[in-house]
Amino acid sequence: MAKSDLYEILGVSKSADEREIKKAYKRLAMKYHPDRNPDNKEAEAKFKEVKEAYEILTDAQKRAAYDQYGHAAFEQGGMGGGGGFGGGGADFSDIFGDVFGDIFGGGRRQRASRGADLRYNMELSLEEAVRGVTKEIRIPTLEECDVCHGSGAKAGTKPQTCSTCHGQGQVQMRQGFFTVQQACPTCHGRGSVIKDPCNACHGHGRVERSKTLSVKIPAGVDTGDRIRLSGEGEAGEHGAPAGDLYVQVSVKKHPIFEREDNNLYCEVPINFAMAALGGEIEVPTLDGRVKLKVPSETQTGKLFRMRGKGVKSVRGGAVGDLLCRVVVETPVSLNDKQKALLRELEESFGGPSGEKNSPRSKSFFDGVKKFFDDLTR
Ligand SMILES: [Zn+2]
Ligand SMILES: [Zn+2]
Repeated sequence: MAKSDLYEILGVSKSADEREIKKAYKRLAMKYHPDRNPDNKEAEAKFKEVKEAYEILTDAQKRAAYDQYGHAAFEQGGMGGGGGFGGGGADFSDIFGDVFGDIFGGGRRQRASRGADLRYNMELSLEEAVRGVTKEIRIPTLEECDVCHGSGAKAGTKPQTCSTCHGQGQVQMRQGFFTVQQACPTCHGRGSVIKDPCNACHGHGRVERSKTLSVKIPAGVDTGDRIRLSGEGEAGEHGAPAGDLYVQVSVKKHPIFEREDNNLYCEVPINFAMAALGGEIEVPTLDGRVKLKVPSETQTGKLFRMRGKGVKSVRGGAVGDLLCRVVVETPVSLNDKQKALLRELEESFGGPSGEKNSPRSKSFFDGVKKFFDDLTR
């Protein structure tokens, strides 16, 4: 079969850059994809042709070889020609990985592996989490080796194209009637091998180092939130892209406030004279103290809502409220005079369940009495 010109197949000029080639390929691959053209041999052949052209023209070495020698450059050893769609669709998933990875969500095949993502646990005070803060962190990480600039090869040398797979990173193995694609055993899928490894990184292209990063924590974060610092993870192998750094936020327990969603809760003790007579107290907010009017006859446990004194979430929306729960504190360490005054007060109530001054106690004890009366009836 006479092979058509690769540039013609993709409909691009000889000077097309990688972006143009990718674009043309994406369009044609969509058009001829077997899923869209079931049982269409012509489309299948076209699809394969397009894919092969794309693979060659986006590989700088292969493209140079093709420009110089034409198809003859690939006659020996497999561009995968003649094998049909071996490996039961392996070819399809390949394409998806290369070009459609962003659409279909991952499955990307890589020559050299991308650096690992890192996680950093950061503890913040409530104030820091609410207002936002910039923190310096030191993280141990693998960075690109600056002696070999990530190639892993000794100065003056270059990684060589793997002779087993001719730089493909994959080899076709025949098993009975089937052709199966596998990662190349010589170069482990990278497509290149290093003959003279760099001394500084022993051929890994990366070195261990700790780095200091300034991390800007946005206002309103809470425990469980994560901040992604793109490309700040480990360097990739052999110049592959770096991973990401995830800063995992956890907020320390606060001595006064508790956060629930965007609201803050706090408990404020008041003495029972204040609860009975009413008055004004100072309550804390994250922005300082504010005055709170306690009405007379306030019962213990009453919640006072202070609008807009809570938290503004990092995700936007309205600012939460501050909810102050007042707790009536029983007086302790009473002196004789105070005790006498309290006794006098109690007598004025007419006993512990005085109807007028303690309606709740009155109805409670009435209820208890009725309960026992019913039992003994
Ligand atoms: Zn190195
Ligand atoms: Zn190889």
